Amino acid sequence: MADPILRVTDLKVSYGKVEAVRGLSFDVRAGSLVTLVGANGAGKSSIINAITGIVKPASGKIFFEGQDITRTGSHKLVKRGLVQVPEGRQVLSTLTIAENLQIGARLLRSGSAAAIDGIYDRFPVLGERRQLPAGSLSGGEQQMLAIGRAMLAQPRVIFMDEPSMGLAPMIVDEVFNVIEEIRSDGTTVVLVEQNARRALQAADEGHVLQNGEIVRSGTAADLLADDGIIQAYLGTG
Ligand code: ATP
Repeated sequence: MADPILRVTDLKVSYGKVEAVRGLSFDVRAGSLVTLVGANGAGKSSIINAITGIVKPASGKIFFEGQDITRTGSHKLVKRGLVQVPEGRQVLSTLTIAENLQIGARLLRSGSAAAIDGIYDRFPVLGERRQLPAGSLSGGEQQMLAIGRAMLAQPRVIFMDEPSMGLAPMIVDEVFNVIEEIRSDGTTVVLVEQNARRALQAADEGHVLQNGEIVRSGTAADLLADDGIIQAYLGTG
């Protein structure tokens, strides 16, 4: 098998005395969609925040394309193509959609006007409303804006933290369609979700987290087919 694009070994993340991630390991194959699922507080955000350089791991190693990136800061990682769409979207609601994308492009030092036009092509609703405040968009549209902003960095691996949070079921489907399209275009996706069933339906592989540890791993199809898993670890999922 080809070397993984991402390798996490024995990762631990602590906040003071709270051990949020307690020594876990997994690989991500290039071009795959991998999901980390688990209940609230299982440690999902802490894992992707550690990989993307937002929090410092207590111990363990993270490799991107074979190179140790454990202590690399988030700005450098963005330039290398590891980009996160944060939980809660974090769009600048009083600024226009265009300004959100322009600021994103500047921060990511990658987006040209043509790249922003590419985002409008992909998300026509953003193009149509580009002069309106981002706060006037619905939750699902704000999620599209957050994803569009991340895509300006031309990610090699995109990390999505709870993209379906707080969205109506129909909108959740739209967001997942976008995620699946991004993956079909060749971008590796690491998806963190409490909506385990929907995430596993989209994913190739999944890891089930509980209390900062991986309790089950497998192909998404196998995890979905295992009746016990969703009930045991994921509530109603
Ligand atoms: P959620 O869906 O709520 O984001 P999660 O699975 O992503 O949950 P984390 O956010 O990684 O889980 O949190 C794991 C544990 O670490 C929880 O017990 C949480 O309270 C704790 N934690 C997370 N961030 C901090 C922080 N900045 N300071 C202290 N404790 C934290």
